[in-house]
Amino acid sequence: MSKILVVTPVESDGTLPQAAGEALGAAITLKEMLEAELCIGIWGQDVDMAIENLGTDAVSSGFKVEGEAFTVSRYASDAAACEAICRQAKADIVITPDSVRTNRTIAGVAFRLNGVSDTHITEFKIENGDLVVSRWHYRQRILAHLKRSQRPWFISIESGVFIPPQGDSKVPSTEALSVDVNDALTRTTVKGIETPAGDEQTIRPDAELLFVAGAGWTKKQPDGEVKAAQAADIILEFLKESKSSLGSTKSLVDLSSEGAAVLPFMTQLNQVGQTGSTPRHDKGLATCCHGEEPHVVGWRFVNERRVINLDPNCGWAHGKADVLYVADAFTVMQKVNELLGNQ
Ligand SMILES: Cc1cc2nc3c(=O)[nH]c(=O)nc-3n(C[C@H](O)[C@H](O)[C@H](O)COP(=O)(O)OP(=O)(O)OC[C@H]3O[C@@H](n4cnc5c(N)ncnc54)[C@H](O)[C@@H]3O)c2cc1C
Repeated sequence: MSKILVVTPVESDGTLPQAAGEALGAAITLKEMLEAELCIGIWGQDVDMAIENLGTDAVSSGFKVEGEAFTVSRYASDAAACEAICRQAKADIVITPDSVRTNRTIAGVAFRLNGVSDTHITEFKIENGDLVVSRWHYRQRILAHLKRSQRPWFISIESGVFIPPQGDSKVPSTEALSVDVNDALTRTTVKGIETPAGDEQTIRPDAELLFVAGAGWTKKQPDGEVKAAQAADIILEFLKESKSSLGSTKSLVDLSSEGAAVLPFMTQLNQVGQTGSTPRHDKGLATCCHGEEPHVVGWRFVNERRVINLDPNCGWAHGKADVLYVADAFTVMQKVNELLGNQ
């Protein structure tokens, strides 16, 4: 019988990260496919709250490594904790969440256990009795299906694909493991974490809505004026109120780097499309964006698509959007902001 292990650190407040819940959801799917045993390994300052709130009764046993040294994101201590858990669990498949800490760690831990690792996995299949995993390459244009004979097989799950379990939690019996915290583990000192203020953080992979701003926001408007500063205010206010994630077209991003009248918070990282990103969100709203194919291919994983464009014959109108509002995005978004502000 296969044994599947999910390994993850906890957040600093002791909860399971969203991505770890998704990895657990993926592991439950795999457990059912393989009729396997499922266990969990968690490390951090204090992990009991996470173990008590797994949202599932499918986990039969747990392993934990606790202590001050395992609170911070640091390769040496994260790898040591993860290695100790994997050695004790003796699983043939190890599932990890898509997080900075685990993505940085698993290749090293796989090497120490003489295993193999694959990242960004989006799907599992059984073919002729073998487990096959899928991942996208080359900006989501090539889908690869992989199988491995070597074990343990470390599989990192792409975020936004699987759903975290939300049932009743059954607390698995959990074994505490000790890891020798020597100088080599703590040689790197983590002095603190600097994050941009919430309002500056425009890319939010977990947001329900993707809000795309196109170059139209910076173009001459029907009254003959360019209103880039007003556009920036409207967009930032909408992002602040709606907590949506900001995407851009290539045209707008390129304008930014060429020093034209632009939105100052827009960077290459916001670009969605063939040469940009392919984010996953439930809904998308494209504004002042023409909907050309190299941009729209980046919407492959956006389920419901709405568009505001002055042009009734824009690219989106050709079967690429669910709803097209033929309207001035300045007027519409100002009204939307007003309604959101009143809530
Ligand atoms: C090899 C290659 C790769 C590319 N990769 C990408 C990519 O990854 N991502 C990407 O985005 N593009 C990519 N492009 C570019 C793409 O083809 C388009 O040029 C680009 O997406 C157009 O950007 P846009 O829609 O913002 O601008 P425009 O085409 O200028 O469209 C602006 C739109 O705004 C509308 N508008 C103006 N004012 C208003 C208003 N007040 N209210 C409502 N609507 C208004 C106009 O009607 C117009 O439709 C690529 C191109 C090539 C050749």
